[in-house]
Amino acid sequence: MMRKLATILLLALLCLSGVWYYAFAPTYDPLPTKGEQQSFEAKGVPPGSKATYDLQVTMHKNHTFSAQATIHVTNTSNDTWNDLQLYFIPNMFTKENAPDLTTPGSAAIQKMTLQHQNTSYTLKKDQLIIPLRKPLSPKEQVTATIAYTFTLPENGLRFTNEEGNYYLAQWYPMVATYRNGWNKQPYARSGETYHTAFSDFTVSYKAPSRYTVVSTSADDSAQKKQVGTLTARNVKEFFIAFLQKPSVASTKVGQTTLNVWRTSSNHENEQQLLQTASQALSLFNKSIGPYPYKELDVVLGNIGMEYPGIVTAGTIYRQKKVSLQAKKDTIVHEIAHQWFYGVISNDPYHDAWLDEGMAVVATRLYSEKYPEPTSANPHRAPATRLTLPVNLPLNAYPANLQSAYIYGKASGYLWNLLQKNGSPETFLQSYYNRYRYKEVSSQEFKRFAKHALHLENDDAFRDWLR
Ligand SMILES: [Zn+2]
Repeated sequence: MMRKLATILLLALLCLSGVWYYAFAPTYDPLPTKGEQQSFEAKGVPPGSKATYDLQVTMHKNHTFSAQATIHVTNTSNDTWNDLQLYFIPNMFTKENAPDLTTPGSAAIQKMTLQHQNTSYTLKKDQLIIPLRKPLSPKEQVTATIAYTFTLPENGLRFTNEEGNYYLAQWYPMVATYRNGWNKQPYARSGETYHTAFSDFTVSYKAPSRYTVVSTSADDSAQKKQVGTLTARNVKEFFIAFLQKPSVASTKVGQTTLNVWRTSSNHENEQQLLQTASQALSLFNKSIGPYPYKELDVVLGNIGMEYPGIVTAGTIYRQKKVSLQAKKDTIVHEIAHQWFYGVISNDPYHDAWLDEGMAVVATRLYSEKYPEPTSANPHRAPATRLTLPVNLPLNAYPANLQSAYIYGKASGYLWNLLQKNGSPETFLQSYYNRYRYKEVSSQEFKRFAKHALHLENDDAFRDWLR
């Protein structure tokens, strides 16, 4: 997501106070030869659970929604399970759980079955627990079906109604990852506290007239119908938006159709922003590796946020109105997440720095190629005042410094590390090549960086990684 302004302001402040830290004097050995590279085995973090989602969602004329999720869950861990744990984030925007909202949403589970038999469950905040009637051994599968209704809040976060446009982020029960127990953190509105594995989705939708559906799936532009079925394979989550009479500008970048959708709440020129998005997609294709989907949607609405195959880029976190330049910066940042988050996964609660830091590094490549005179430059060396490592869980940072660590400090050290050792592009290409559709942890990142950059010890990480 995009929380750059806060970072920029903080870093600018530190810049003025003159406490800059340049830690990267040592030079490293040249990149290893091809033979050495091939001896390295990338080890992704196993998700521990596998889910296949069959979702149905109907937006009714009165703007309420009804949905049914059929989820086939396989135990890919080494433990035997006694329950399933899922995120049910629509429940975080109800009157009870979001008392600060003037217009909260609602969420009600109508029916829940396990293996087609009615079953009990507990729902507390965003934690949905379904006890299993008999323990589920490794490799076994179980099917849960959940029928529910919901409405979207105004001024929600990601999951929200913004001027009659409905952004359905994290709108279905999402199976948590499993590692020595269910890896489920309590929902927080700061950062991303949910983590899901790569999954396959089939999503059937019905939309009222005047509404256009855009989503994670690459099928939408072919459909543009009020009723349809969308699919997406091997994606971390499935985002869908119901937009009221949006306008669209499209182009082709290689094999990918790029669409920029303008909603009623945004008045920017979609053609101008299409150029930014197209330049970013094209540059990242070359600098990192090929974007894997046939379509990329950019929605000029809602806060800057990444989803597989689609990003929203209306505003920046906690900002109401943003400049055209800030919107361009947001688009580039969120598109960069297609590589770092969308294809290379990381746990956004425990290792938020990995996708945010990488996304900022990629945007730096962009701003070097397409410099904008008015573009604020957040890519400064990190300051000594930020003494914590960048890879702590989100709740370990003071709220006002979270962005400074996971965006600012992380990207500053990453950039320096990669630049001191040759070209950031070479590293990113190799990283992307090896970790596509895998989850990277801080430990694995360090192991790979040491190999790729030929580092003999941990000195280069001491000041920023735990
Ligand atoms: Zn981000």
